[in-house]
Amino acid sequence: MKIFRTIEEQQNYSKNEKCENIKIALVPTMGFLHEGHLSLIDKAKEHADKIIVSIFVNPTQFGEGEDYKDYPRDERKDLEVLREKNVDAVFIPEVSEMYPEGFRTFCEVGELSNKYCGESRPAHFRGVTTVVLKLFNITKPDIAVFGEKDYQQYIIIKKMTEDLNLPIEIIPSPIIREGDGLALSSRNIYLEKEERIEATVIYESLVMARKMIDEGEYEVNLLKGKMNELIKSKKHARIDYIEFVDSRTLEKVEKVENPTRILVGVWIGKARLIDNMEIKP
Ligand code: AMP
Repeated sequence: MKIFRTIEEQQNYSKNEKCENIKIALVPTMGFLHEGHLSLIDKAKEHADKIIVSIFVNPTQFGEGEDYKDYPRDERKDLEVLREKNVDAVFIPEVSEMYPEGFRTFCEVGELSNKYCGESRPAHFRGVTTVVLKLFNITKPDIAVFGEKDYQQYIIIKKMTEDLNLPIEIIPSPIIREGDGLALSSRNIYLEKEERIEATVIYESLVMARKMIDEGEYEVNLLKGKMNELIKSKKHARIDYIEFVDSRTLEKVEKVENPTRILVGVWIGKARLIDNMEIKP
């Protein structure tokens, strides 16, 4: 497994592979890898010959007072796991390599970036799209895999790719969960014991909404109210947002009539966790 820490090394590798007509997949991550990340690698293998995984805790997607400094990191273990997974190359740059003195240019996908997660994290998606565009230019993938766990991020990246005519196919991969339903996340490590138990309420609220919809309840206000009530019954939970949106456009809906995503952001203690569920009425 190749490990590249400079942009030049990574670009040269990708250039050479492309000369040989080899199909490259990129799986971008912030490291502290778990089964969710590994499932993206499996998905990438279905579509490409060579797999590049990037590990970069991107400072521009963290706001003031957020957890950039505390974000969990374990480079040694990550590299071990990726080696076992037979990944071909890992791009793992320093911040100064990605954002040298004088860096000025950002990429932003309009109003899609300002709602839901973007409302409580105003510069977040601008940081995400900027770093992903840079990673695309550095690794030159034919395809890139993104987890549906970060559904708004997936839709925004897809839009950026379409709008900027990037010759890259964006492939979604399903959410991987713990046995009790909690979506895997590097941030779950922030949860204290009691908070970890309460955190399952996020998934439970989604399952409850799906069941109510299956039984014929389509009014979003009512469904949101019930989810609110359930989540608020937990001592450590504080709701950031619950929204029902059109699965393709992320526009809010008032009735569940077409394919809908329920998007949820909830603080459990000091961990801000997100989750979502597809509803096909
Ligand atoms: P992160 O390292 O948290 O930035 O995530 C890197 C990629 O892994 C993103 O595309 C995430 O959507 C994806 N991902 C994170 N957690 C999960 C999960 N539980 N299931 C599926 N994909 C995930």
